[in-house]
Amino acid sequence: MPLRLRGGGGSKRGMPAAPTVTPKAVIHQKYGAKACYSVEEVREAVDGGCPGLALPQQTRSVYRCSLDLPGLTVVTPGTFVRKKDAEQAAAQIALDKLGIQPTANAPSTPEEAWDELIARISGFFADENFPSSSHPLIGHMCVTFRRTGDRFGMIPMSAIAACDVKVIGLCKLIDPKAEFDPLLVLSLIYNAAKKSPGVSVSDSNFWIRSQKPYSPEAVDLALQHWSGITNPIEVDGIFVPCVMEDEPKTIRLTLSHNEHYMGDIVSKLSASDSSHAVVSRTVGKASSEIRLYFSAPNVQFVSEISNNVVSSLGDGYMESLINKRASFISGQTIYGDAILANVGYTRRDSELHTEDVTLSNYYRILLGKSPDGNYKISRDSILVAELPSVYSRSSWKGLSPRDLLCSFCRLHRLAEPYFVVNRCASGGKNDKENPDMFKCDVKIYSKKQELLLEYSTADTWSKESDAIHNSSLKVLIWFCSYFKQPNKHVLKLSHSKSTDGFTICPDNFLHEFAMFLSIYGNTGGDDSSTCSTVGSLSMDTSKQKLENNAVLAHVDGPDSGVFPSHGSLTCISYTASLVVKDKTNRYMLESNNEFEFEIGTGAVKNQIESCVSQLSVNQSACFIAELPPRDLILAAANEFSHDLSKISRDNCFLEFSVKVLQVTEPLEDRMEKALFNPPLSKQRVEFAVRYINELHATTLVDFGCGSGSLLDSLLEHPTTLEEVVGVDISRKGLTRAAKSLHQKLSKKSLMQTSVPTAVLYDGSITDFDSRLYRFDIGTCLEVIEHVEEDQASLFGNVVLSSFCPTVLIVSTPNYEYNPILQRSAMPNKEEEPEENAGPCKFRNHDHKFEWTRSQFQHWATGLAEKHNYSVEFSGVGGSGDEPGFASQIAVFRRMASGQDEVCQEGELHQPYELLWEWPNASLPSH
Ligand code: SAH
Ligand code: MG
Repeated sequence: MPLRLRGGGGSKRGMPAAPTVTPKAVIHQKYGAKACYSVEEVREAVDGGCPGLALPQQTRSVYRCSLDLPGLTVVTPGTFVRKKDAEQAAAQIALDKLGIQPTANAPSTPEEAWDELIARISGFFADENFPSSSHPLIGHMCVTFRRTGDRFGMIPMSAIAACDVKVIGLCKLIDPKAEFDPLLVLSLIYNAAKKSPGVSVSDSNFWIRSQKPYSPEAVDLALQHWSGITNPIEVDGIFVPCVMEDEPKTIRLTLSHNEHYMGDIVSKLSASDSSHAVVSRTVGKASSEIRLYFSAPNVQFVSEISNNVVSSLGDGYMESLINKRASFISGQTIYGDAILANVGYTRRDSELHTEDVTLSNYYRILLGKSPDGNYKISRDSILVAELPSVYSRSSWKGLSPRDLLCSFCRLHRLAEPYFVVNRCASGGKNDKENPDMFKCDVKIYSKKQELLLEYSTADTWSKESDAIHNSSLKVLIWFCSYFKQPNKHVLKLSHSKSTDGFTICPDNFLHEFAMFLSIYGNTGGDDSSTCSTVGSLSMDTSKQKLENNAVLAHVDGPDSGVFPSHGSLTCISYTASLVVKDKTNRYMLESNNEFEFEIGTGAVKNQIESCVSQLSVNQSACFIAELPPRDLILAAANEFSHDLSKISRDNCFLEFSVKVLQVTEPLEDRMEKALFNPPLSKQRVEFAVRYINELHATTLVDFGCGSGSLLDSLLEHPTTLEEVVGVDISRKGLTRAAKSLHQKLSKKSLMQTSVPTAVLYDGSITDFDSRLYRFDIGTCLEVIEHVEEDQASLFGNVVLSSFCPTVLIVSTPNYEYNPILQRSAMPNKEEEPEENAGPCKFRNHDHKFEWTRSQFQHWATGLAEKHNYSVEFSGVGGSGDEPGFASQIAVFRRMASGQDEVCQEGELHQPYELLWEWPNASLPSH
């Protein structure tokens, strides 16, 4: 039974009003985030106060706006009462200067567009235009001239949609829904073609041709462009079944030389008529001709300007025909089975261009739709790269967060993201030391300019682009977590205001992501099952678990002693191979000779990072990893994707082989080394040694010992120490520490010198462990800034009230010293003052805070008073004059008193896990 497409019948009601485009919108379209508005508040005297009275003069705020575009800056000459108006005025001035005007004779109403569409279709078949070698339809027409009989000169209407973007533009003006609906486009072309003078269309199918016979000269001319090859072309496409249970598969298409390719393609879809081909927009790269083809459902187009698709069987019927995967991929409504193929004519060429579309291509297109997919693709690393959790200008690789967010929005058919950058005065005492800061809010709109999501932040950055990238990354990460667990978020969406700076408009949001939800949002509401079906779109949720499971099969090469530490830029080479157990086949899925990433930012799969952290430069290792989701494997598989799609997962495992090529130390360390001699870390050690000697200390615990640099150096100094202990929560750090202490102590014991006891514990310094009660010295160097402020206070309380060391030395960066560090870290860049700003506002991405001298002193004196300690302030790095030391230090001393009952010695409270111990030590395995 035919379905009916019932439309507005040309009535003016129900038509969307022609959009009025504001100057800002035009600027935004052209420049996006490169357009930078800054609004300045001006106080203006208000007239009409009370003359004669000695009151302060009344003023009000008015606004002036300047607009920065690449190569042009304009400022409004006057002021405006509303910020908005100031911005629009600035945008208008810029448009005038640039000579941009809304094109005078372009159609702007649906009616005008309709007339234009009719004229344009006519034009394609007009004698004077056809056929010439520059005709957009030349290739499509040429093939039909090779036919004999009835179909001579007839092309399927979708050819017009495929070859002429202007037609699509007009269709969208007539009905904005055309953007999302290829069937509506076909209906509009069909109805317009019926009205087009000189054009003939049939009533029962979708062929279109010139009313008049083509002149023999024209036909000859067209055929001259054809090389005369008559063998059919074979090309692979991907069959995307409508039924979700069936997986997409490779399909071989045979395109003959005297049939239109669209007919050949839809014949594989059991189409009743080869003119019924419907074609989506291009998918994937904009320049490609990859499109989805499907066969028009048996419909009748009845209106002149159709708005609605109403089936006589009810809406539900058309809906049941929707191919969800194909629709999700293209962002358009696709009905029935579909074929993804790369076939088409380039303009002015009558030879058909074809390229195979592999399963790998299909899954890469799918991957590109996930918020982190384009990052992986841009890094050419699908199996290893992950979207990092922090942005840093110096270490970011691949597409920038802003570009990623823009392409994400584009791929999901949303409006370009809207960045609202605010300049805020830093409020510092010294304007030169503290230039203006920037913060950036982000708004995500639908194509219809409905707000979906708003992110606002208080974070400020010294460079505008840093503000934009950081906020873009936050939004991408939000989308990642939404894509991972859509159901959970759907529930949360209903409470539209959330606390993390995100405000979601649930209705608009869910409307735009409806297709995603219908595929990946399992209605059962069970998140875990959703994840497993999401495939590549789900990110790895079981990271924590995997970290410890990664077992290094074997490590090659001697330990060079240069190892990747937190924050260092590490360059590796790797290969990832899929191994089929019984057949012992290996497929190399991915390899990279030079892959650079920053440790600790989440930029790689967790197992890779934990492997790399156990190696030093020039060492390599292999390990077996958990099998990634099927979609991801096939996306990575390239030429093997077809073969691998048939292999059972149970039979395979993934093997990585990784080599560390180079390590660049974190910026903080580089700065500390470049600027200070001896390096700051050594100065901290020497500082501690002074107190050890002064106290004749025999016991020392290093809270947050990391890879053991302090303990290690202490062994090189002659001291009174008999027992040294390190505590840390990082296994990686502790393993390093164990290795180097072990090496050092083994050598020492050979030399028969007195060797102290050394112990390493895995534990959190905010937990008390009675084995470390009342040590002579506690050190906590450059640790507190790595935990949240409340945890830093908790540590302070626990250590002074429970551990009760005689002396506690705490060091942390002095925030006020940063400008000096940053300036000297990037010297000789005077000509690009912008680049002088630091890559992040703190010295290290992992820092949760950095305190000024007064903040640190406030923290420390509070603690000291509370727990009956005295405290003195000192530091290392610099002279200590304004603005203080580079690294500020507080030295707490327990005051003799009867307060000892506060500490509970006797109780056995041992939450720390013993990791390594000297003597009696065995080196921990990885
Ligand atoms: N003190 C070392 C390492 C400083 S880096 C040095 O000066 O070189 C900070 C260290 O603190 C890291 O090794 C980190 O793992 C550790 N850390 C952070 N939070 C911790 C906690 N709650 N308990 C123990 N260690 C912690
Ligand atoms: Mg630090």
